Amino acid sequence: MPIAPSARSHADDLAAFVEASPSSFHAAAEVARRLEDAGFIRLDESESWPATAGGRFVVVRDGAVIAWVVPPTATPATGVRVFGAHSDSPGFKLKPKPTTGRLGWLQAGVEIYGGPLLNSWLDRELRLAGRLALDDGTTVLASTGPLLRLPQLAIHLDREANDRLALDKQSQTQPVWGLGQADSADILGELAREARVDAARIRGYDLVTADAARGATFGLDDVFFASGRLDDLASVHAGVVALERAADDFDADHVAMLAVFDHEEVGSGTRSGAAGPFLSDVIERLWLSLGSDREQQLRALAASWCVSSDVGHSVHPNYAEKHDPVVQPVLGSGPILKINANQRYATDAAGAAVWNAWCSAAGVMSQEFVSNNSVPCGSTIGPITATRLGIRTVDVGIPILSMHSARELAGVSDLWDLARVAEVYFRG
Ligand code: ZN
Repeated sequence: MPIAPSARSHADDLAAFVEASPSSFHAAAEVARRLEDAGFIRLDESESWPATAGGRFVVVRDGAVIAWVVPPTATPATGVRVFGAHSDSPGFKLKPKPTTGRLGWLQAGVEIYGGPLLNSWLDRELRLAGRLALDDGTTVLASTGPLLRLPQLAIHLDREANDRLALDKQSQTQPVWGLGQADSADILGELAREARVDAARIRGYDLVTADAARGATFGLDDVFFASGRLDDLASVHAGVVALERAADDFDADHVAMLAVFDHEEVGSGTRSGAAGPFLSDVIERLWLSLGSDREQQLRALAASWCVSSDVGHSVHPNYAEKHDPVVQPVLGSGPILKINANQRYATDAAGAAVWNAWCSAAGVMSQEFVSNNSVPCGSTIGPITATRLGIRTVDVGIPILSMHSARELAGVSDLWDLARVAEVYFRG
């Protein structure tokens, strides 16, 4: 079935979004930039915030960002509809003393961030991106073009490579980025030049790798979309598009809120992660600006929802035994509702019912995901926000293949369908 033009252009826009978002810090900045262009007002956490009825706002905390639209009729007990996602992806992060090398090659010292499929990172040109902290206490974003690569050993030198590819996580994961001697080179200088600052002023950095290739559609009728960081920028992007669209003539009886957290891939337990206080801080300040007392805040919480969106697994045609034998979501058949008896996902009966209602209001097919009992189930930010805030939560996402690969695989129509359901959810 041919892909609708609106879904195609959504995928093109996602490719641009991912390109602008090689690190969590870039993703948060890009969300804020897009929303500011759409009339959102950027707030600073250290300043006092204005009264918010009828306003639209965005605030960035490190690699996290929260944006919201307040209806003109907001009262001190108005609830919130949160669409949650995460800005980080598995990969590599630059170590201290990062310029290394041997045998005439310049290399970068890296740690492994989260759980990447290591083999998928071989033989790709990689960017380096993140933030630099300078001597005057300011931070700047910096990113390079294609700079690094993890070259795979030739088959001639390891005849068993196709039978078992195992990488030593230290000695065989250090990418090359040039030729020469480490003591006369400085990889941070490449970042400094891109950011137009003096490398001698760098006092700290958070820098990660990202696949340098742009996302693209392919396959019969262009049904597929391949890109780095679909986990979870596909959800972040859907949320931004939906919030931007819903913000026009917004007259719901709740606040529409996009919450994008960092550090999901390493457990969320940071000040910009879902287990940290960012979301509850923002919601509390929103209520204070509406003049809520404690009882009104608890009433508002009880009236609130969180849709936690993160990618999930499509069935894989080569590994049928890894999936539930009956519940088999596949690319192109709509977003998935994630279910797990052990609460690795927060979805319950009430959440399933409202999610299905939002999908049908949006004219979008929906599918379910549940694990094969013999395969451990992943988790995401949904159960964490539900536990922290006591807010009703439903875990959803789009189905993908190659999760945690340097280049993951999604269905073009699912990406657009997720944005459409999110818009219906925001609009109420
Ligand atoms: Zn994820």
